[in-house]
Amino acid sequence: MNRLPRHDHYIAGEWTAPADGGYFPSVNPATAKPWYEAANGTAADVDRAVAAARTAFEDPRWRDLSQTRRGRLLRALAELIGEHSEELARTESLDNGKLLREMRAQMAGLPEYFHYYAGLADKIHGEVIPGADRALLNYTLREPVGVVGAITPWNSPLLLTATKLAPALAAGNTVVVKPSEHTSASLLALAPLFERAGFPPGVVNVVTGFGAGAGGPLTEHPEVSKVTFTGSTETGRRIARTCADRLIRSTLELGGKSPNIIFPDADLGSAAMGVIAGIFAAAGQTCVAGSRVLVHREVYDEILERVTARAATIRIGDPLDETTELGPLAIADQLAKVESYVELGQAEGGKVVCGGRRPELDLDGYFYSPTVFTGTDNSMRVCQEEIFGPVATVMPFGSEEEALAIANDSAFGLAAGVWTRDLNRAHRMAARLEAGTVWVNTYRSMSPMSPRAGFKSSGMGTEHGTEVIREYTRLKSVWINTSEEPVGDPFILRS
Ligand code: NDP
Repeated sequence: MNRLPRHDHYIAGEWTAPADGGYFPSVNPATAKPWYEAANGTAADVDRAVAAARTAFEDPRWRDLSQTRRGRLLRALAELIGEHSEELARTESLDNGKLLREMRAQMAGLPEYFHYYAGLADKIHGEVIPGADRALLNYTLREPVGVVGAITPWNSPLLLTATKLAPALAAGNTVVVKPSEHTSASLLALAPLFERAGFPPGVVNVVTGFGAGAGGPLTEHPEVSKVTFTGSTETGRRIARTCADRLIRSTLELGGKSPNIIFPDADLGSAAMGVIAGIFAAAGQTCVAGSRVLVHREVYDEILERVTARAATIRIGDPLDETTELGPLAIADQLAKVESYVELGQAEGGKVVCGGRRPELDLDGYFYSPTVFTGTDNSMRVCQEEIFGPVATVMPFGSEEEALAIANDSAFGLAAGVWTRDLNRAHRMAARLEAGTVWVNTYRSMSPMSPRAGFKSSGMGTEHGTEVIREYTRLKSVWINTSEEPVGDPFILRS
């Protein structure tokens, strides 16, 4: 039998075999077959990677590089990503089952993250603080925090890694990334491009493996000064507790149960497409999935008809096929999770009006049909818990107040969609929705320039935009006595 291709960790610019010699298989979700093996990281590998990152942090080649030159390296990296985008897109599609078309679009946008933070690199600075005593000069320095530990998920592997790496590097930190064990390949393909762009070895390191073996040791490592994580709320809480014990900061981008709200004055065709894009794109495996669809009673039947009609014709199949509209779920556990929630929703009294089963296909992968529930109540578990699959609950409301009450009745607060032509209502809703992002007459719009923050159990801290630089820097206050006067005896009080 042919052995699968093997990938080692990437530490200090070198492919590094795992300390204990262990590897694990990664499965292509469209075929349910393993297609490569990655190094199974342990605390010893994390130690090596963090030591390399610490050495690089103190290396004058990185530490003393001008901020403008840091920006140039990020720009050079962005260009290299552009040259490798087709290979990276294919690798991601094979690893997580998302449509090749979608991954191509994501990879085409990826350089923008590095360009944006390249431009910001030499705009990071402290300020001079005025004081009562003119002889005392007080200024602040905005310094990098040191070694950043980044733990990234499988749903948009490189995009969600770029949102962490680009600002962390622009601010002068060094990084150890632990990608999801389900999708290590694209980051391993990206890693050597950092040195090719001119980053000194050790500025970016990759340790592959599982949460318990590699993720935990990374968050607990005494030389890691900050952790940034995207994943489930439960794991985010665990990581936040570890960081709190160590008194280091964490940025957490966690789960969601986002409402997508349709008023009767909306363009109903656009709203129905917004619902489809919100929950069925990427098979619902996005943190911002619009999984709770709230529709005004006057247009409920029409929206339900439009959504289910399109959902039933979504073309499911091989993600590499250009005509496919919905690929598989990324992992077997995710398929099992979706199946069990659909059963639960029915047991709770919900009615499946579309999908609710695995499609009949010639492929063995983890496919699930676009599913729509009616008859659900917002208190049900299918309306309160993140499913992370192509499952929408469609619920009626009668007034703006009722829509707001249902929308905000959630432990999560990541995103919300509003469909209306009424400008005043759009602003009222945007102000009162408890969500870090509100979209009006659009859904899933995103840009490196626009901040993303999760309210409530959806996260802590900000990603994207200029604010994120604060997350990757620490502020130092410097006082300088500019006076030539001798410093007097502190115990002799002057009037
Ligand atoms: P998890 O949040 O459970 O895990 C994410 C990553 O963190 C994995 O690599 C995991 O490793 C690792 N990890 C687990 N425990 C720790 C720890 N104590 N310290 C450091 N790292 C740790 O997500 P899953 O991938 O298991 O998906 C489960 C659910 O999470 C999904 O169904 C979805 O609801 C949500 N999710 C949300 C995402 C988002 O974009 N906000 C992205 C992905 C998932 P291991 O798997 O080995 O435990």
